[in-house]
Amino acid sequence: MSDENETTYDRTGCFVAGCPLPGSMATSTNGSSQWFCHMHHGAPATSWADITARVSNRLPLLEAARRLSNLPPRTAVPTAIAQTFEASGRGAMLLVDGKRVPARTAGRHAMGVLEKEIRTPGQQQALETVKAAMASGFRSMGELIAESEEIGA
Ligand SMILES: [Zn+2]
Repeated sequence: MSDENETTYDRTGCFVAGCPLPGSMATSTNGSSQWFCHMHHGAPATSWADITARVSNRLPLLEAARRLSNLPPRTAVPTAIAQTFEASGRGAMLLVDGKRVPARTAGRHAMGVLEKEIRTPGQQQALETVKAAMASGFRSMGELIAESEEIGA
């Protein structure tokens, strides 16, 4: 395994080789922590490569959804971000029940849709765990990354 590929976000990347997402959720095994992105966290190793491929295919959308989730409450979806989704034919992802919603709501909704597509279908229980973690953790990913650096991962 080599680290030749610089990650898009940070050197503290997901444990899965080739995954462009930051490692934001720790799995402790044998006393050592491995950091996974929220897409790979809890997923069986046999599905890692498929998940990585789906993440890579959707990276601009994942980044756009993350940015929306980080905007202040009651902010409208910025045009540039909406265009990112529309350019991929995924503008509907920003709508909830067919209606326009504030940026944060749209971002979380889009992320939920992306998660379902990326994670192996049928892992609904794991998905719920991820959703709960994301609701509290994903918007403070920078802090989590900082923490993981302090730990020395
Ligand atoms: Zn990952």
